[in-house]
Amino acid sequence: MGIGEFEFIEKIRQRAARGPLIKLGIGDDCSAITVPAGQHLLTSTDLLLENIHFRLDWTDLASLGQKSVAVNVSDIAAMGARPLCVYLGLGLPPGFTDEQLDQFMDGFFAALEQEQLFLTGGDTCRAQESLTIAITIQGLCPEGQQVTRSTAEVHDDLWVSGTLGDSALALARLQAGKPLSEFLAARHFRPRARAELGWQLGSHKLATAMLDLSDGLAGDLTHLLTASAVGACIDLDQLPLSEEFQKALIVDPRLLDLAICGGENYELLFSAHKHNRTRIEDLAQEFGIPLRRIGTVIADEELVFMGAEGQPYQPQLRSFDHFATPGKPLPSS
Ligand code: ADP
Ligand code: MG
Repeated sequence: MGIGEFEFIEKIRQRAARGPLIKLGIGDDCSAITVPAGQHLLTSTDLLLENIHFRLDWTDLASLGQKSVAVNVSDIAAMGARPLCVYLGLGLPPGFTDEQLDQFMDGFFAALEQEQLFLTGGDTCRAQESLTIAITIQGLCPEGQQVTRSTAEVHDDLWVSGTLGDSALALARLQAGKPLSEFLAARHFRPRARAELGWQLGSHKLATAMLDLSDGLAGDLTHLLTASAVGACIDLDQLPLSEEFQKALIVDPRLLDLAICGGENYELLFSAHKHNRTRIEDLAQEFGIPLRRIGTVIADEELVFMGAEGQPYQPQLRSFDHFATPGKPLPSS
């Protein structure tokens, strides 16, 4: 990298937008944010590590910049809140070029602009071997609006946004050295967080519990169920699948497990009272967001997947866990 640390910081300082709540942004020892009376400040952090979360021979840097914002926005959306600002920690390996850094920052700033977010600080270091991206995001919501994982109620409906399994199918194809369609590449490399949906569900108090799907439906739903001390019955026939995923499924039915366990969907999963079905459907219509009712919260603390004829189904894959010993390879056809 030719550019020096302070030259880089000055460049991004000039590029960073300022909002009325940002009293101090990049350039001092700390940022200073005004939290309006009656609001909570929400904070979340995500690490993206080279060769764990991404490979530089698979992704372009602008997409990586964009995705690193999206995965953080997704966490704030999952609380029913609105994102406000981000902090960017970068560990840059020796071979990393100024062009690569520019491309990353272009994608990063484009995503900030799209989501109306401010870059308010960070840290920049040289790393020994691989690229490290550490992002902290902060958001706001009126006190009491935050939607946690622990408040799902028995008989609630379970809803999910978008489609499931596209990103995992893309990853499986990459791992098998197969080419990706534009659609799958976009779903894997350039996901968009469901920011508006999260806020709408939160502000209208329509979700009883919610989280974003980063590790896979089965794994993330288990987190929500455990936190709420309930169980769920999921109707596999109702899983929302893209056209491309459905086509792949006809060729290889085992791919269903990618929709159930595959990670990086960045869709929202939430529980809601049955009497709010119409309001939720109206909201989906108004904002043009696909939402699907995939199951029901039950009292028995178990997670059951039901096939078309009512038979229980046991997926052969596990959802992603960084500390798990390597399991079965994902199917890749
Ligand atoms: P310190 O020595 O106090 O950590 P730095 O020289 O690291 O300060 O940073 C100076 C300013 O630049 C701080 O406001 C910091 O938040 C900001 N900054 C440094 N790196 C980044 C980055 N990658 N993205 C955004 N802001 C950054
Ligand atoms: Mg520093």
